[in-house]
Amino acid sequence: MTTQGLTEVDEAAGPHGEVLLRATDVTKHYVLRPDGFSRRRRVLRAVDGVSLEVRAGETLGVVGESGCGKSTLGRCLVRLTELSGGRVEFDGRDISTLSSRRLRPVRPGMQLVFQDPQASLNPRRRAGDIVAEPLLIHRHGDSAAVRRRVAELFDVVGLASAHLDRYPHEFSGGQRQRIGIARALATAPKLIVADEPVSALDVSIQAQVLNLFADLQEEFALTYVFIAHDLGVVRHVSDRIAVMYLGEIVELADTEDLYGSPAHPYTEALLSAVPDLDDGTAPAAVRERVVLTGEVPSPADKPTGCTFHTRCPYARERCALERPPLVATAPGRRTACHYPLTGGPSGVR
Ligand code: ADP
Ligand code: MG
Repeated sequence: MTTQGLTEVDEAAGPHGEVLLRATDVTKHYVLRPDGFSRRRRVLRAVDGVSLEVRAGETLGVVGESGCGKSTLGRCLVRLTELSGGRVEFDGRDISTLSSRRLRPVRPGMQLVFQDPQASLNPRRRAGDIVAEPLLIHRHGDSAAVRRRVAELFDVVGLASAHLDRYPHEFSGGQRQRIGIARALATAPKLIVADEPVSALDVSIQAQVLNLFADLQEEFALTYVFIAHDLGVVRHVSDRIAVMYLGEIVELADTEDLYGSPAHPYTEALLSAVPDLDDGTAPAAVRERVVLTGEVPSPADKPTGCTFHTRCPYARERCALERPPLVATAPGRRTACHYPLTGGPSGVR
């Protein structure tokens, strides 16, 4: 996908610092084994040409339906997955081609918080040991120093240090996610990629954990890539939001602009599905509910042209033929649509 419009738009990116993370045309393709129906080698395009920048201190939200490639992108960004193509620069360095030996000193600076603390924490290890593990791997002092640091991290995420020796199952869901966050913080990272960190939690607990993320960002000047499957959760934590569909970014904008006037029909549809926007703040553009028709196509068999055209209520002939590039449609906003709802040269319907 083209990255046209990237520079002029992002250079005016507001109060945040230098670009800490830059992804350029990142792709992750999985080659599927032939099945009974087809002897053809099929390629699943989990992430398909994603370009984005994240500035120091900001939070970039990433949203999209399940299966659109959010987790895969998150893992590519911190190089827990090898890229099929493109590059990722972190803190001024291309990390996409570093050998594992050269990657080692870079790893402490970027951490991933997983979606499901139940599944991501080793049930046979004590909470304190789970948090200590990255410190031991990256050799942060002797065992007394590690123990002190772990107790401090427990305190920072709001866990009682008296519970260091408990096992994950002895904590509640919210507390388990706090253990995952403490573990991610252990090496004092600059960047945290949080992959749906509250999706597995009760709604009543979600706000507490989101507040914790906000407090930690302020206290430690953290930069976040915050992944979620709906726009309700990311609104309050994100400065900007990238909307993904079938492995591609279809819209990227400042949070308030995105909610106020979505330019991509898919963004509009996602917004109209957010229930708590009915609190009177719902923008005029989404007052009417847009219901998407049809199934999400398979990333192993992506539609021609605009990948969203098979479900788009506004699709025209051109949309099935030509893939729209992600281009600037307003200051600070990029949209991949031939007929954006707002802004853009062809925004008139
Ligand atoms: P999301 O996090 O948005 O739900 P994922 O990144 O988990 O999406 O998955 C994107 C697509 O890639 C899905 O179609 C998924 O089935 C596929 N996928 C993910 N990991 C693998 C893998 N290891 N092998 C094959 N396909 C995969
Ligand atoms: Mg996921």
